[in-house]
This record gives sequence, structure tokens and C-alpha cells, in this order.
Amino acid sequence: MRLSKNFVPTLKEVPADAVITSHILMIRTGMVRQLSAGIYSFLPLGYKVLQKVVEIVREEMNAIGGQEFHFPGLNPKEIWEQTGRVEAFGDILFHVKNREYVLAPTHEEIVAYHAKGVVKSYKDLPQIWYQIQTKFRNEPRPRSGVIRGRQFLMKDAYTLDATPEGLDVGYAKHDSAYRKIFDRCSIKYFVVGAASGAMGGSKSEEFMVQSDAGEDNIAYCEETGYAANVEVAQSIPESIKWNEEEKEVYDIHTPDVKSIDELCEFLKIDETETAKSRIYIHNEETPILVLMLGNEEVNEEKLVKALGGAVRPAHEEELKEISGADAGSIGPIGFKPKIIADLRLKGGKNLYSGANKNDYHIGGIDLERDVSGLEYFDLRFVKSGEKTFDGKGVLEVFKAIELGHIFKLGTKYSEALGVNFTDEDGEEKPIIMGSYGIGIERILACYIEQNHDENGIIWGTHLAPYHIHLAGLNLKKEELSSKCEEIYETLQSYGYDVLFDDRIDATAGIKFNDADLLGMPVQVIAGERNLKENKVEIKLRRSGERFIVGLDELKDKLSEIFSHK
Ligand code: ATP
Ligand code: MG
Repeated sequence: MRLSKNFVPTLKEVPADAVITSHILMIRTGMVRQLSAGIYSFLPLGYKVLQKVVEIVREEMNAIGGQEFHFPGLNPKEIWEQTGRVEAFGDILFHVKNREYVLAPTHEEIVAYHAKGVVKSYKDLPQIWYQIQTKFRNEPRPRSGVIRGRQFLMKDAYTLDATPEGLDVGYAKHDSAYRKIFDRCSIKYFVVGAASGAMGGSKSEEFMVQSDAGEDNIAYCEETGYAANVEVAQSIPESIKWNEEEKEVYDIHTPDVKSIDELCEFLKIDETETAKSRIYIHNEETPILVLMLGNEEVNEEKLVKALGGAVRPAHEEELKEISGADAGSIGPIGFKPKIIADLRLKGGKNLYSGANKNDYHIGGIDLERDVSGLEYFDLRFVKSGEKTFDGKGVLEVFKAIELGHIFKLGTKYSEALGVNFTDEDGEEKPIIMGSYGIGIERILACYIEQNHDENGIIWGTHLAPYHIHLAGLNLKKEELSSKCEEIYETLQSYGYDVLFDDRIDATAGIKFNDADLLGMPVQVIAGERNLKENKVEIKLRRSGERFIVGLDELKDKLSEIFSHK
């Protein structure tokens, strides 16, 4: 490919809306351009890499017996209504205005639809169906370039099984295929158990990449290998030394004191002497007061697990009616409806909390004595530095990007859509499903996040759009130009995909910078001095090593280099 004739619009300046490295570099290298918020066009260079990723994913999916489909993005809304997911997805789902269609954000429904009445017997099972196809999600905050787009490519796979054991096998196959895919793409990842969210199901795991651009918080322990989303992560936090002095509860006038910080400041006490109250509504009818130690936030995922059913925070205007006070003055003493507390508060004595009366707090609270039948659950978020739950290591909490997700769905979709099969005993049962997604653009972006330096991208041979970047210098000179043309032909005849910087007007400096920016694994620099001696310079992008090589030994030198990559 010739840089002079092809569309590779590299940029020197960093676009203002691009803040994370992969986004900046994908724009600077002319791989992508934004069309609208969260909507990107892939330009030829970017599309070439995308196709390489797709090919790796496809090979590994085929290797586990996956059958490739292509389902439409435009779906009749009715099918999505039958599973209740028009509502579950809410604003994320794109609706097509002039027809009763939605743009599919995932394809469980469509898989179930096609299996219905066709996959009839246990003899037709198991099946692995997959596709690599465009998904549409009206993400409220598209950001980080292609990492969170409103339209993106997903490899989504679905298993159909007759038994839970069959599902285990299909799930394990995907787990191993995903590891191979990410290894082949040279991505450092780790796997965490996850909450299943809007998908519903029994077991799921996420393949994550550590990155400040991530929107998931992960608790990870190097020593023990423990990794979990903070939504579900457990730890052993430092235990609290309670003030054991026996006191009755007493009112304290605390004008304008609302937050825990203000309360600590006002009373000159430590955060761990306070209990924060949050009111939630359980199943749209029962108010529940959730007590947390000090400033700790309620982990709503854990709360849902503890209570079962649907849970939402009470609205501002509901608080007074439920508790008698506004936010900032609510507390457990005299609170009539149900109260639950975080485990860290167990044994809590001489605590300060709201009085359910504006501008008042209560001191001297002994939870065991003053709140009858109080139940305790793990309702908090773990923090960096806390001991792992098994006590064998220390947790670190950091941000990460989800690259892939594997779910045991169970029969949620087959039941909703009536997708049944007949088992060995002639009994009719719903098909057991699994679903497995990978974000194709995210692989690309995460690769760049992990493989770059201050000058640009560093491609490995598996994903590189071209093996070799040939930089021809001083091409205004006829004899140099024709020599470079020859080298270009020769390199291709050796079987390499070559990007030839044949621009006549670009200076050597610009060419070197672009070669580093675009990041092909091997640069062949053909300058006047070396060419005169029938030599070229080779520069390895990752290590920066340079060699001067005679044209007659170029073939051997390159095969030696590429055999190590
Ligand atoms: P996230 O928590 O990041 O929103 P998700 O849980 O919604 O992800 P899934 O529904 O499990 O994602 O989709 C499977 C895969 O598709 C994800 O692991 C991710 O790699 C990719 N993906 C999801 N949403 C987007 C998006 N908006 N842009 C690009 N890729 C995405
Ligand atoms: Mg999402």
C-alpha cells in the first residue's frame, strides 16, 4: 500500500474530545473518525486491523464448533416485548420511529426465535451459534472512542443445551476460546465473577483489562489471584473498636449538619463512630432503612441480593413521609419500618446517627440494645488495602474495561418465547441457553492501550495492518525512487504486507515520525547513503533496535526477525 495514494489521514494534533490513549492514537493514525457521538467510521487502516481481530475471533469460535450466523440488526419489537426486555433495556434500546422495530443491542431473542420448533429433540442439542455483527445501544455517555460506542461490533455466541451439564461444557468451551483469543491478540486480561445485571442468569464471568479508561471497578489480589467486580467483591475490612461505655441514647441539636463529614466536624468525632442511613423502597411498597458505617456507600447490587426482588432508593420527597425527616437527619432510632445494617456495624455501640427530626442527631446508640431484630448483611464496597475474604492476601481496587462476558442464561428466554425440546424420556422442556459476548473494537482499543509509547502505536505481527513500513527518503531523486520501488516489489515478493511511504514531498523527519506513529513492527528505511552501498536500515518498532543490512541479506534478516515475533 502506498501512502501517497491511499487514505491514511494522520494528524499531529490531538483532538480535544479524545482523552484516552487508544482514542487519541486511533484518530491520529487515521484508523477511525467520529461521525457523531459514539458513532465511528473505520477508515481503511483501522478496518484492516479490525478484520484481523475478527479473523482471530472467528477461528477460535469455529474451533469450538461454533456455527456462524448473521442475524439482522433490525428486529420486530414484538419479540423483545415477549421477553420483557423493551422495558429492561429502557432508553438503551433504539426504537425505529416509523415502524414497530427496535435496533438489536444483543440477540438472545432472535436466537431463541430461530430455535423454536426447529431444534426439537435432545438429539438436536447441543448447538453453538455465533455471529460477528453490529449492535446498537443508545449509551447515555458514549466515550473513550470506540470503547463505548452507540454502534459497535460484537461477537455474540449462544449455546443451546438439553441439560445443565451440557451448559457447563459449552460455557467451559467459551472460557477457553476467549483465553486463546485474548492471548493471540497479546492482551493482558484477567477474569472476574460478575453480577448478571439486565441479562438475568445464574453464573457469569467477565474478561477484563486494567485501564483508567474503564468504567468498572475491580478488586484484585495479586497473591491469591482473586478478582471480582466491586459490585460483588468481599473482603475483611479492619474491625472497629467500639467505645464500650454504657450510655443512654440522647438527642443532640445539630443545626445545618447534614453529611457524615459535617457531623464528624461538628461533634469532633471519628467517622467510625457514626452510622449513615439510606432509605430504599423494596418491591415498590416497603420502605427499608439501610444503615452503613460512617461514610460508606450502599452497594446496591449486594442490597438486591440480600433482599431479593426490586429495590430503588427512595425519592427525596418520599423521605419525610417515611421517616419524619429530610435526608441528613434520618436514623434508626424510632424508625418504624424495617431496618437492615451492614456487617461492619455489628456490635456497634455509642454510635451517632440521625434522629428522624430535622436538625437533630442521636448519640449513645447501641444497635443491639436499641434496634430490635436488626439483620446484618454485607452491603458495602471493598476498598484497596483490605484483606481478601480468605485472609491470605491484600486487595487492590482499580478501574478496568470489560472485553468479554460469558453467561449461563438458563431458561429465561426459552421460557418467555416457548422454545422447548423433547428429552430422552419424551418430556417437553425449555432449552437451556448460554450467551457469550466480545467487543471487537474494544480488543483493538485495549491492545493499543497496552502497546504504545509516546511516539505512537506498537503493533505486534498478529494485529499489525502491515508487517513492514518501508520509508523511502529523498524520492525526488530518480535513482533513489526507482531503487525504493524495487525494494517495495521485492519485500512483497517475500510475502510481506508492506506499507510504502512513497510521498515525494514529506521530509525524512515526517516520515520517521509517521512510521513510529503508525507502529508497524518492522521499519525498513531506505536512505541515500545506505542505498549507495546497496544497504537499508531496519528498525524494530518495539525495541528501537536498528541494523544496517545489505539488500542481498534482507530476506534472511527479515525472516529471522519475523520468526521471533
Ligand atoms: P458494559 O458494562 O461495558 O456496558 P455490557 O455488560 O453492557 O458492557 P455485554 O452486554 O456483556 O456488555 O456485551 C458484550 C461485550 O460487548 C462487552 O463485553 C463489551 O466488550 C462489548 N460492548 C458492550 N457495550 C459496548 C459499547 N457500548 N461499545 C463497544 N463495545 C461494547
Ligand atoms: Mg452496557
